[in-house]
Amino acid sequence: MSVQVVSAAAAAKVPEVELKDLSPSEAEPQLGLSTAAVSAMAPPAGGGDPEAPAPAGERPPAPGPASGPAAALSPAAGKVPQASAMKRSDPHHQHQRHRDGGEALVSPDGTVTEAPRTVKKQIQFADQKQEFNKRPTKLGRRSLSRSISQSSTDSYSSAASYTDSSDDETSPRDKQQKNSKGSSDFCVKNIKQAEFGRREIEIAEQEMPALMALRKRAQGEKPLAGAKIVGCTHITAQTAVLMETLGALGAQCRWAACNIYSTLNEVAAALAESGFPVFAWKGESEDDFWWCIDRCVNVEGWQPNMILDDGGDLTHWIYKKYPNMFKKIKGIVEESVTGVHRLYQLSKAGKLCVPAMNVNDSVTKQKFDNLYCCRESILDGLKRTTDMMFGGKQVVVCGYGEVGKGCCAALKAMGSIVYVTEIDPICALQACMDGFRLVKLNEVIRQVDIVITCTGNKNVVTREHLDRMKNSCIVCNMGHSNTEIDVASLRTPELTWERVRSQVDHVIWPDGKRIVLLAEGRLLNLSCSTVPTFVLSITATTQALALIELYNAPEGRYKQDVYLLPKKMDEYVASLHLPTFDAHLTELTDEQAKYLGLNKNGPFKPNYYRY
Ligand code: NAD
Repeated sequence: MSVQVVSAAAAAKVPEVELKDLSPSEAEPQLGLSTAAVSAMAPPAGGGDPEAPAPAGERPPAPGPASGPAAALSPAAGKVPQASAMKRSDPHHQHQRHRDGGEALVSPDGTVTEAPRTVKKQIQFADQKQEFNKRPTKLGRRSLSRSISQSSTDSYSSAASYTDSSDDETSPRDKQQKNSKGSSDFCVKNIKQAEFGRREIEIAEQEMPALMALRKRAQGEKPLAGAKIVGCTHITAQTAVLMETLGALGAQCRWAACNIYSTLNEVAAALAESGFPVFAWKGESEDDFWWCIDRCVNVEGWQPNMILDDGGDLTHWIYKKYPNMFKKIKGIVEESVTGVHRLYQLSKAGKLCVPAMNVNDSVTKQKFDNLYCCRESILDGLKRTTDMMFGGKQVVVCGYGEVGKGCCAALKAMGSIVYVTEIDPICALQACMDGFRLVKLNEVIRQVDIVITCTGNKNVVTREHLDRMKNSCIVCNMGHSNTEIDVASLRTPELTWERVRSQVDHVIWPDGKRIVLLAEGRLLNLSCSTVPTFVLSITATTQALALIELYNAPEGRYKQDVYLLPKKMDEYVASLHLPTFDAHLTELTDEQAKYLGLNKNGPFKPNYYRY
């Protein structure tokens, strides 16, 4: 019933293809999935518009559902997208970028600090001063890590590792290692762990159906043949499945970690064993971090022509050290809030010299990774660290965005009594109508058993709040940065810290009251539990398609600007994941499609649709 109402309204307001309302310069581009190289793996034809991508500009999205002439991508294909890219022009996105933009700025002395969250901040890529032939001492390595970017130090998914970095103190940089084929073009903790890593990768493959489907579709043609991709992401089993998919599609890859703690050593070993030049291990120093990135980029006889980045550090390094490389680079695909923010800054300053795809703001990233990943992993993170029971516990969740909604839903389902704090009346109203009590943190801080932050903001939980919490209150963060809880304020002489478990600290007040601080205020789920592979599969598939599109796009389709993936590509990524659920999608009849003003093959929603 409600579907009919919405659809009718949509039909009434936006009866025509949205691109028709745009001037050519504002129209959405069609992505290159229609190129011959891609057609073998691409899904069946859908709508799309063959016009060139829109130039930069901050305009609201065009009204109306986008659709266009179907372009057959594969004779055998069913239906799904052909892609078209759009600039990020939605005011919502603009807001979010600024609000979330906990940007790491590099000061002239190489120190990275969080920039003020304002529109006007300037990108400050200062020259890095590492000299790789001067190896730092262990102490030196530790102190260097102060200047590493925030995103690269956020702890990530340590739980699944077979081996701890403590088992061997020798730096991988000091080891001579070869894989079974005699190659030493890699640097990992221990190549002998490859077999364990291979098992992890095989487990992840089971939950990454879309990437496996892309591999199958590309058996004949290689849409990434000739692509030389340099990547900088978390190195986990899921990333390994992505890398091996890119390899199966024809790409050569060299990879470094985007986070000094997140590498699964055995997975890195497995990749190195199967011939991927991987430079990463868990517990890198900052010097190691940049050294690894440099080893990926600065290699005799090999130059990257595509970048896949998560956090912007790799892109930054190439900008500062090897700007000439951009002559050959066809595009950048960026996943993170921070990295995307940097790209927009470069674009605004007229310094972006290749096209870039913003994967972070794809519907299939934001509405899945943030919501479902957190809904699935919040309980896991809390349980693994505290063994707590959730039923009847009073929990306050700060922030009711995608992450907050996921956390609240999971806790409510377990019988917890959930309070929400919000600054935005819209999200606040959503919380109320979802059945949560909207409160100020002060009102409940004395009574709650658990405090969870997920705002993307800073100092949401202050020392004053921490002082007022009751004994045994658990405090943790699900937001990107460790800025939400004022952990630094707890480092005072009158408070005692006791490490009771890995990632679990008791902070004890003089009167004996103790609070339980998890992961020192870093992301709980990524620090203390694993995250669902299936959700990561959705993001990884989006990244793969973005790379294919940028690599195959004809000259001139994309300018030196930042593009959003098109709705049809999001729909395609979703459709590739539906068979897992034995889901049966309803097809529009011709009559219905006409009534709604839609192409039968999508896209099915206007760009401003919020899901
Ligand atoms: P969002 O913008 O949808 O939600 C954040 C909410 O916090 C907003 O509704 C905002 O109004 C509210 N907020 C801001 N300041 C507040 C304050 N002082 N008090 C109360 N509410 C406040 O963002 P999101 O997608 O929910 O992501 C939130 C954070 O989680 C980001 O830092 C994001 O990078 C991170 N994230 C974490 C994971 C994970 O796996 N842990 C996954 C995705 C995103």
